[in-house]
Amino acid sequence: FSTAHNLVSKPTHAKVGRVPVALGKRRLRIVVTGGAGFVGSHLVDKLLDRGNDVIVIDNFFTGRKNNLVHHFGNPRFELIRHDVVEPVLLEVDQIYHLACPASPVHYKYNPVKTIKTNVMGTLNMLGLAKRIGARFLLTSTSEVYGDPLEHPQKETYWGNVNPIGERSCYDEGKRTAETLAMDYHRGADVEVRIARIFNTYGPRMCLDDGRVVSNFVAQAIRKQPLTVYGDGKQTRSFQYVSDLVNGLMALMDGEHVGPFNLGNPGEFTMLELAEVVKETIDSSATIEFRPNTADDPHKRKPDISKAKELLNWEPKVSLREGLPLMVSDFQNRILNEDEGKGI
Ligand code: NAD
Ligand code: UDP
Ligand code: UDP
Repeated sequence: FSTAHNLVSKPTHAKVGRVPVALGKRRLRIVVTGGAGFVGSHLVDKLLDRGNDVIVIDNFFTGRKNNLVHHFGNPRFELIRHDVVEPVLLEVDQIYHLACPASPVHYKYNPVKTIKTNVMGTLNMLGLAKRIGARFLLTSTSEVYGDPLEHPQKETYWGNVNPIGERSCYDEGKRTAETLAMDYHRGADVEVRIARIFNTYGPRMCLDDGRVVSNFVAQAIRKQPLTVYGDGKQTRSFQYVSDLVNGLMALMDGEHVGPFNLGNPGEFTMLELAEVVKETIDSSATIEFRPNTADDPHKRKPDISKAKELLNWEPKVSLREGLPLMVSDFQNRILNEDEGKGI
């Protein structure tokens, strides 16, 4: 008995044109789409550290060259300005597909482009994976659970998503991307991996992307009030970026298709988060209440037992340990911005 939730990946059949992965003879070559973004750039750091060759594909919608500038000149690193909505020809062993704006402010900016990125972009990367026999990892999201009626969320939960709301370009886009991945897996034997990522934070998040952690941290540094939307009793679980990168690599290199929840099960209300930010940065910071946005999920917390059991993965960095690690990065960038050197 096998369901989509406990699939073990089948070995890919030999394909015309496939370059065998001769570990030890040739370095693993990996594409990271969206590699100039927040999560992608940390993943690239770790893959290069491990000795892999890395090609980044990014259109710089929300990503920045600055996140990767420390690799310029490294012969094992390549950066290609390309939009994944257009086809691309490459020869690689693994594809980490991250390209997609992640913050609500960014993905609502041009919703049609967001859904094109999720659907056509994912289709192109799966077509590429099929042609060259590469393994493909999709970074899906906890948003596929919508405003969840099951708490905490397990991978078996099918979600409660509004198909016509302001968030749908992202939620439904990612749900379609998951469908495409499973159809290429079942229909074309592509080795796929699906991660459902829960709220993640850390250095290199966009300063003004509207996400709650980046907003609160930037506001506390700028001595502005922390903006709590609604009554602040909605909950989220916040994962430090290094934990996520370890989870993505364990998933890619393991034998299981997924989907896997990757998140930190520590659950906080937005008011509690504001308190932790105050403790970490400025105890005199004040709170200002604002109206909440449409379709805001009331609560979210991952059940990560599946990833613990099958990937031997769990997050190590608590919110109180992780927050200080992003503060100096934010302080430097805010200082540069103030001096007119916006980066
Ligand atoms: P990000 O916005 O920092 O990075 C996304 C990257 O993709 C950027 O570099 C952007 O320029 C690039 N991009 C966007 N559209 C593109 C296109 N059409 N072609 C080529 N490049 C394109 O976001 P992030 O937080 O690093 O998220 C990375 C991935 O993880 C996304 O797929 C996101 O949906 C997923 N995810 C992130 C979180 C989180 O909390 N950060 C949570 C759930 C899922
Ligand atoms: N594709 C790509 N690079 C490749 C192979 C395919 O970008 O190396 C794109 C291709 O242009 C198509 C998509 O991936 O839009 C799906 O490809 P597939 O071969 O699965 O489907 P088809 O081209 O037969 O519709
Ligand atoms: N939020 C908030 N203040 C802010 C930004 C966001 O209270 O300045 C709230 C938002 O309403 C939501 C939660 O924080 O309930 C998480 O929002 P975010 O945009 O970070 O992520 P997502 O909604 O995608 O989980």
